[in-house]
Amino acid sequence: MNIHEYQGKSILQAHGVPVQEGFIAETAGQAKLIAEELKKKFGAEIYVIKAQIHAGGRGKGGGVKIARSPEEAADVASKMIGMTLVTPQTGPAGKVVRKVLVARDVYYKGESDIREFYMSVLLDRKRSAYVIMYSTEGGMDIEEVADKMPQAIFTEPIDAIGCLHDFQIRTIAFNLGLKGKAYKEMTLFIRGLWDAFVASDASLVEINPLLKTSDDRILAVDCKMTLDDNSLFRHPELAAMRDLNEEDPTEVEATNNNLNYVKLDGDVGCMVNGAGLAMATMDLIQLSGGKPANFLDVGGGANPKTVEAGFRIILKDPNVKAILVNIFGGIVRCDRVATGIIEAYKTIGDISVPVIVRLQGTNATEAKRLIDHSGLKVITASTFTDAAEKVRAALN
Ligand code: GDP
Ligand code: MN
Repeated sequence: MNIHEYQGKSILQAHGVPVQEGFIAETAGQAKLIAEELKKKFGAEIYVIKAQIHAGGRGKGGGVKIARSPEEAADVASKMIGMTLVTPQTGPAGKVVRKVLVARDVYYKGESDIREFYMSVLLDRKRSAYVIMYSTEGGMDIEEVADKMPQAIFTEPIDAIGCLHDFQIRTIAFNLGLKGKAYKEMTLFIRGLWDAFVASDASLVEINPLLKTSDDRILAVDCKMTLDDNSLFRHPELAAMRDLNEEDPTEVEATNNNLNYVKLDGDVGCMVNGAGLAMATMDLIQLSGGKPANFLDVGGGANPKTVEAGFRIILKDPNVKAILVNIFGGIVRCDRVATGIIEAYKTIGDISVPVIVRLQGTNATEAKRLIDHSGLKVITASTFTDAAEKVRAALN
């Protein structure tokens, strides 16, 4: 699960990690009050208004703006809240901004002596270890740095028992070229960052930029955080951070029906049981000249209700030109799936796209008989190649 920048920062703060000071606003009036508060508390004269969406590249898309008075903060916020923000990471459709973070400008006293670093904690699957990845070349273009000068990005692997040693922290702070107070602050920052990562069962925390201010404070200016869905049951306060507005509505509906659904951009919808068979089926679709419109694993316990929910979800996608159902009856009985398909036809009404069904395994003959006698225009297939041929024919 992804969370917003302001939520990630609140987790960091709870672990003693210093962040750019700011508060969340949903209206222009709140933005003004926050700016006034930042002025009172820190003597801040300049404010940064940051759109809260689950995508990076906001700086480039106009989602990070400076304001020079509380009135201007209100003005900027009123334009930003409700806008559809398009960044290099949102795709062309963009995302609607519902909240803004109003923060104190931390690039104060001009640009001199300021340094923007990059730091993230993530799982390196090749090393089978967590790593701290960091660079002196932080800021907005870390992808370009990774591309053109990979030698500027360092990694510090963390050993299997998950212990980040003090000497590793000192190495990182030293490699970032810090001295004196900034060095000391950086070591505390890294310890806190790791603690926050572990305590919240995160799979990624990315701080870019990680700022050294002109007065040698070390601050998280941005925060991107991903939490492990499988751990949320033991963190109700983190689970509550879910923002359904940021998630694909069909994926949310699928989750509510206990279906594993991932929307893709092809034209053949597919409903399969088991992730492995689902992957193979997507390959099959590709080989027959189509492109999968989704990944959908109905799971081992597929029943008429889940099959119907699966059809509904697949049919919400206007790109779908055909549907391939590929179910292996191991735990699930094929005749129950067939009943589900027939029920779905009855309740959904007009399934106007061709549906190719391959049911193999327990009670497969019974299932085929049910479908063939249902009077529905369902195309049955027996083998993988047969199914591929029939998908190809349906697309033409
Ligand atoms: P992203 O573009 O979505 O990654 O959003 P960031 O939070 O990283 O902000 C983008 C850029 O805005 C940063 O790289 C900074 O250059 C700039 N920025 C962020 N906070 C401040 C600030 O307090 N003052 C100034 N002058 N610029 C800031
Ligand atoms: Mn950033």
